[in-house]
Amino acid sequence: MGEVREKFWELPLAELTRAEWEGLCDGCGRCCLHKIEDADTGEIEDTNVACKLLDCGTARCTNYRHRRAFVPDCLRLSLANIGKASWLPEHCAYRRRHENRPIPRWHPLLTGDPQAAVKAGVSAAGRVVSEDRAGPLEHHITDWSSAAGKDAA
Ligand code: SF4
Repeated sequence: MGEVREKFWELPLAELTRAEWEGLCDGCGRCCLHKIEDADTGEIEDTNVACKLLDCGTARCTNYRHRRAFVPDCLRLSLANIGKASWLPEHCAYRRRHENRPIPRWHPLLTGDPQAAVKAGVSAAGRVVSEDRAGPLEHHITDWSSAAGKDAA
């Protein structure tokens, strides 16, 4: 992480520097999983199918810097689109700060533990399959809400 201010995670998203913005991510990898949107209702269902660039064991992008060269529709979260990203998991710091809520108590920024998302039970690490091997998405609908209790912490 580059130069960041003390407790920057309590500042409004609009005031964050690039490094601070990037620092909010806990690395859970959940936004890198495919979702299925119902064409009629707009309802979104989660799956356990990961983007081909995601390391399914660690839930980290294997080519973060150049990811859009390989996955052009990879969404770059920004102030302009965070309000439309209601599919982000409950614990996600971008979602929470957009909703003016604090980041979760277990977040790596508060605990200093880079494995915090795994320990909180919200990480995709070791619980997903790559899109290269998954087959039809409809076979992989997953309810991630079992992690919701700790999401909310
Ligand atoms: S869901 Fe949020 S916290 Fe998790 S990897 Fe995506 S941006 Fe980071």
